[in-house]
This record gives sequence, C-alpha cells and structure tokens, in this order.
Amino acid sequence: MTNVKEIYKCNICGNVVEVLHEGKGQLVCCGEPMQVQEKRYTRQI
Ligand SMILES: [Zn+2]
Repeated sequence: MTNVKEIYKCNICGNVVEVLHEGKGQLVCCGEPMQVQEKRYTRQI
C-alpha cells in the first residue's frame, strides 16, 4: 500500500520515487521492495 506524497527509495541503485496516486501493492526496484522515506518536507542529503 502506498500513500500520496510518500517518498520511496531504492537502497541498491538510489532511485527515488514520489507517490502521486495511492495504490495497492508495493513498489519494487532492483527486485527488492523500496524503502519509504520521510515526507517530502524533510530534506535528506
Ligand atoms: Zn533500484
């Protein structure tokens, strides 16, 4: 399950995705589930 405005990151390739529309299921990159990050207002460098 994904929620709008959530940020997901792949720890393998560093790909970052922002959810624009909530949906069922899971985001997967490089064959692994992507990790949810803090909301977009928290800048992570
Ligand atoms: Zn990846």
